[in-house]
Amino acid sequence: MKVLILGNGQLGQMLGKAAIQQGHECILYSDRDHQVKALGSQQALNLSLEEAKEWADVVTWEHEHLADDLIDATADKWLLKASLFRQLTDRRTQKALCDTLEIPTSDWQPFNDAAELEAILSDCDRAVVIKSAKGGYDGKGQWRWKPGQAKDDIIAEAGQRPGIVEDMIDFSDEVSVVAARDHHGEQRGYPLTLNVHRKGILAYSIAGAQGFSEALERQAQAYHQKLTDELDYIGVLAIEFFVVGEGDDQQLLVNEIAPRVHNSGHWTMSGSNCDQFNLHMRAITGLPTPDLLVAPTLMLNAIGIDGFPEVLWEAGAADCHWYGKDARPGRKVGHVNLMVDSAERAHKLAEQWCDELQVLKDA
Ligand code: ATP
Ligand code: MG
Ligand code: MG
Repeated sequence: MKVLILGNGQLGQMLGKAAIQQGHECILYSDRDHQVKALGSQQALNLSLEEAKEWADVVTWEHEHLADDLIDATADKWLLKASLFRQLTDRRTQKALCDTLEIPTSDWQPFNDAAELEAILSDCDRAVVIKSAKGGYDGKGQWRWKPGQAKDDIIAEAGQRPGIVEDMIDFSDEVSVVAARDHHGEQRGYPLTLNVHRKGILAYSIAGAQGFSEALERQAQAYHQKLTDELDYIGVLAIEFFVVGEGDDQQLLVNEIAPRVHNSGHWTMSGSNCDQFNLHMRAITGLPTPDLLVAPTLMLNAIGIDGFPEVLWEAGAADCHWYGKDARPGRKVGHVNLMVDSAERAHKLAEQWCDELQVLKDA
């Protein structure tokens, strides 16, 4: 099949490689410079977006922040209704959808402007996170506030655009489920991945070693199935959760939904027989998807550094992925996967290497 990928960042490139690997043809539309490109090339192809769309059998995307005109220009080759994509990619309607489907998420309120935000905070008696409705990633477009703290500056900044105010959650862990739904409505999912964030950005993920309870695993897959069934969604979709409660009362609260492949699924490039990029391509092109086998893996993000530190190579971390991006503090420039024999070892390695691999922005 012929696949057009919207977005030409690292996720688009990894999706493109999977497409080629499966015998498909693939081109990418860079929505940064509005050019159509071949996989692995920064050279523009002599092809308009309209022509690229006409060429394609199916259009998919690497990120959820697609401009309205790009959605309108390509949606007739999508497998998802544009209106549902819009619903999913605005935090207000995304949270409302969770509420409607009775998929638990933190209590929240929408606001349209500074006056509405002011009214919410004036009435608020607990710690909250304020998030822009659209456009945020890696913790950008977020403000934390608690009663007693000055709020004028936050209101002035956050109130410039619509958003939500949600309760600050006291979680024990952050986890995500990455799974695909295929043309027949069958779901293929990886086990829950543990995600550790530093300064709002994913620092590392551990999968296949963590040993979450059967009940939590089932809950995550069930929420995923319910959501993707409702949307008739085809392809990979990720849900980020907070784990709250203790022991048998542990449960999942949705943090956010990403209708695409996800950074917390990068470990599958080493730790599974079919990685998330292959899984997505298989699902959207109607190829069969295999039973997913999983080996315990640690994925560490490289953030803001210029090249992989030699210590990683010496340690046998062969599976390094480098995105070819300029290094800036807080910018993801690559990731490395390591097979581990236990969660303990994974945490130890992660804590040992995070500082060498990550230059973060000051808060
Ligand atoms: P991503 O890069 O995953 O798309 P994002 O910028 O869209 O991230 P969120 O996932 O909403 O933002 O938040 C980033 C991180 O901030 C979360 O992973 C979590 O660590 C923290 N966080 C967000 N919302 C809350 C909350 N309500 N309570 C506690 N911590 C939160
Ligand atoms: Mg996000
Ligand atoms: Mg997130």
